[in-house]
Amino acid sequence: MATPHAARFIAAAATIERIPQSTLPEIAVAGKSNVGKSSLLNRLTGQSKLARVSKTPGRTQQINFFTIDETFILADLPGYGFARVPLAVKAQWKSLVEAYLSDRPSLCGVVVLVDLRRGFADEDEQLLKFLRAHGVATVVAGTKVDKLNQGERLRQTHALLEAAAHSGSTALICSAVTGQGIPELWESVSRLLRGRNATHFRR
Ligand code: GDP
Repeated sequence: MATPHAARFIAAAATIERIPQSTLPEIAVAGKSNVGKSSLLNRLTGQSKLARVSKTPGRTQQINFFTIDETFILADLPGYGFARVPLAVKAQWKSLVEAYLSDRPSLCGVVVLVDLRRGFADEDEQLLKFLRAHGVATVVAGTKVDKLNQGERLRQTHALLEAAAHSGSTALICSAVTGQGIPELWESVSRLLRGRNATHFRR
């Protein structure tokens, strides 16, 4: 798939009841707060205002749903792992996201974003473990590669590939600023869609 892709906002769900019915195959995007998810979604779609680049990390506790080229749905999951958030908010995140991920018949896979400089956080590993246990295919994308010099880039990429493999996933690196890795990310999304992991769409 080559960019740009036409994205259209369809719904936001802060509670399980508000999650829209499955109509098309779906890909979810997850990651720690501040990992660069909004920037990447904007870059992926070529729409600079599609997802809001956050000034206050972790403010939005909702899943945003977009159609891409009217052929599949992209679910933007709320960021996790931010420090100064009340336990009740963390519990709300967990119940909403786990309910969604464990019972979404159209879900073909999840792209898990990890800050390449920092590598896997506990929360990333927990999420990948949860998804593996539920038989959901995943791709790990290391973000903000433009921030690393060549030595760090090599070292961190190697570490990310190893950690991803250990979690039963594959990995790539990308940058919302330079566009590096964006075609590869689209290719991974295509592969997840072709894999038709989704029970609902299994042929
Ligand atoms: P979110 O909280 O995961 O949605 O992250 P944002 O997209 O709001 O990004 C968090 C911060 O990282 C912002 O200051 C962005 O400008 C910055 N950022 C995001 N992606 C990149 C990237 O690929 N390269 C660089 N250098 N900065 C980035």
